[in-house]
Amino acid sequence: MTEQFDGSFTQQEPIPEEAIAAATEVMRHGRLHRYNLAAGEAGETALLEQEFAAFTGARYCLAVASGGYALGAALRAVGVAPGDPVLTNAFTLAPVPGAIAALGARPVFVETTEDLVIDLDDLAARAGAARVLLLSHMRGHVCDMDRLMEIADAAGLIVVEDCAHTMGATWRGVQSGRHGALGCYSTQTYKHLNSGEGGLIVSDDADLIARAVLGSGSYMLYERHLAGPPLDAYERAKLDVPNVSGRMDNLRAAILRPQLARLPEKLAAWNARHDTLEAGLRGTPGLRLVERPSEAVRIGSSFQFLLPGWSGDEVRALLAACAARGVELKWFGAAEPAAFTSRYDHWRYAESDPLPRTDRILAGLIDMRLPLTFSLEDCGLIARILRAEVTRIEAGRSR
Ligand SMILES: *Cc1c(COP(=O)(O)O)cnc(C)c1O
Repeated sequence: MTEQFDGSFTQQEPIPEEAIAAATEVMRHGRLHRYNLAAGEAGETALLEQEFAAFTGARYCLAVASGGYALGAALRAVGVAPGDPVLTNAFTLAPVPGAIAALGARPVFVETTEDLVIDLDDLAARAGAARVLLLSHMRGHVCDMDRLMEIADAAGLIVVEDCAHTMGATWRGVQSGRHGALGCYSTQTYKHLNSGEGGLIVSDDADLIARAVLGSGSYMLYERHLAGPPLDAYERAKLDVPNVSGRMDNLRAAILRPQLARLPEKLAAWNARHDTLEAGLRGTPGLRLVERPSEAVRIGSSFQFLLPGWSGDEVRALLAACAARGVELKWFGAAEPAAFTSRYDHWRYAESDPLPRTDRILAGLIDMRLPLTFSLEDCGLIARILRAEVTRIEAGRSR
């Protein structure tokens, strides 16, 4: 009998009851705006910022309206101006080059390795051509952060980290987002915390975070930030920073705080699922797993593998066969962008030279969501289906 999977690849876990109660409380009192506080009240947003700063070990934190907003705010804080080249990963998702282009700046893409991280040799070669690197830890794969920071420091590159897929991941025990000048996170439904939409920025730099706070629409109420910098940092910047409103509200922060408290459990649950899939696929002919360096703790909230040398028709046959058995795969090699998946050469606003190494890797790159609503048994079943279909197509490949 051919096994069939019937779970949903887009169904996330429900919001915890405690978070629902906290959200209800905010709605009952009606003070949803972060600066609308009763006497003596800190507000959910300011408390979330304090708690997230503690979680990452950062001095300062700012909560904002989305992950994409966080990226734009961070780039504005470091002074990216129209026309500036900004280095970034060729393998990433649309909000990353979008944040650069929205400032009138110009994304300059860096090649990708087989481990799905930024190619550090290519970065070293291009480092002199820009002042800022927007580093995307795409799909949770963390590059050698020691070497990356060496390259950046040597070239005077300011690093802004896109941690949309690495909240809770570490490199040698240091949280992702804590190597660069600013770290940016998303709390959109498909990320590691779920408030529908939302974002967080962390930094140890008082002037950078002051600019981000003022820019997010603090007016002259920045003293209400509990995870903000000393007041003199605001004083220096407050008449220079344009307001680009993108604050988080107390309702979303109320939903996030109980989730943040449980985040370590969630991360462990993702990794158990990822490990089950990986174990079930190891040794499959034709299929290459993506290995991670021992210094990195990755969060397996999605799963990738490579089919090196497969033709487009062979990949399409696999996608169709797996879909027929209930396993939804995404392919980064498709000619046209689909759903959330697109590629650097699709983004017409961000012209790039061809990147042959990235092209070769993306042509055989398969991507899968791994929601926590899947059980370990589900992951075992998905692995058996993938293994059977990859083995079958690989056996029939013309060589
Ligand atoms: C989701 C995502 C973002 C931004 O997130 P939003 O909160 O949806 O704006 C940034 N980078 C990557 C790689 C993402 O997947």
